Amino acid sequence: MRFCLSALVPFVLAAAVSAQIDPKTALLERSAWAALNAGQAHAAVEAFREALAADPKNARLHLGAGLAAALERRDADARDEFERALALDPKLPQARARLGLIQYRLGDPANAIRTYEIVVAENPGDKDAQATLDRWKREAELHDRMQQAIGSHFTVSFEGPREEDVAAQALESLDRAYWRIGQLLGSYPNEPIPVVLYTTQQFSDITRSPAWAAGAYDGTIRVPMRGALDKQRELDRVLAHEFTHALIRTLASRGVPTWLNEGIATALEADDLDWAQKNVAKADKPVPLRALQNGFSRFNGAQAQLAYATSALAARRLLEEAGGFAIANLLRDLGAGIDFETAFLHRIQRSFADFQSAPF
Ligand SMILES: [Zn+2]
Repeated sequence: MRFCLSALVPFVLAAAVSAQIDPKTALLERSAWAALNAGQAHAAVEAFREALAADPKNARLHLGAGLAAALERRDADARDEFERALALDPKLPQARARLGLIQYRLGDPANAIRTYEIVVAENPGDKDAQATLDRWKREAELHDRMQQAIGSHFTVSFEGPREEDVAAQALESLDRAYWRIGQLLGSYPNEPIPVVLYTTQQFSDITRSPAWAAGAYDGTIRVPMRGALDKQRELDRVLAHEFTHALIRTLASRGVPTWLNEGIATALEADDLDWAQKNVAKADKPVPLRALQNGFSRFNGAQAQLAYATSALAARRLLEEAGGFAIANLLRDLGAGIDFETAFLHRIQRSFADFQSAPF
């Protein structure tokens, strides 16, 4: 299957801790944790900020502020808050593990590994932490021995001389996607995008993607070099799809429902969506877009196929009706924190409910 995992790993939130601070700050802290646990990132950010103004040396409040920032995908702010929390209380539960995860998400595996070495040393029974550390180390060793092919918009890492040709092909294919899709959405990434070519085994070990995934994007485009990638068309399709995710991330680092993110990537990966039309036609009943908000990785192969097909057809209809520039503006609004219904109505010029009720 051709699908990908555009990984957005949610943070599991810390439980509220009872406070030994003045009653008003304690109340603020309680409502901040409640907002965080309910996934209300912005309310949590505000409440932690207010509580910290009254009690700036409270390590737990810095941890909470970091978790809220991570939920808003302000990862550098989150890292700074976790570091502040640890400076105040080096043994604060969760803070160091969170710091490691956010360092990794920021593309800083060397520091993530150093942080997790302390986490593992302090919690010798924590098998998950040990497994994460081992995986990061394997990934770092692999990346250390990889070579790179460097283009103007992409850097492609690959393991051995046998992959040199396919890496060169990948660069050319990525460049074509860059111009074609950039023009369509009226936007181009500023920074070169890292791309890593893996064996199938390395890909599943490092990304932990479901078996149906043909690629992943988590700030880096990660692609398993299956036999299928010997075919130019399949290479173009997978790389165009993952590049689209990278471009979407530059427009909105948060707030994009999965159907929209995967739908745009799938609609723009190739011209032909007949497979999607057939797939949706033979489904027992259509899947509402609202059921496709949060990640597809829990789906089995057939469910994933229907989810991608439904999303792709919806995105193509959006492209046809509103155009690429309107979609880019919708994404920018979502990234700026504007709620989905408001942004959709403003940029697409019809309500989301109305759009959803129309037939494909
Ligand atoms: Zn995808």
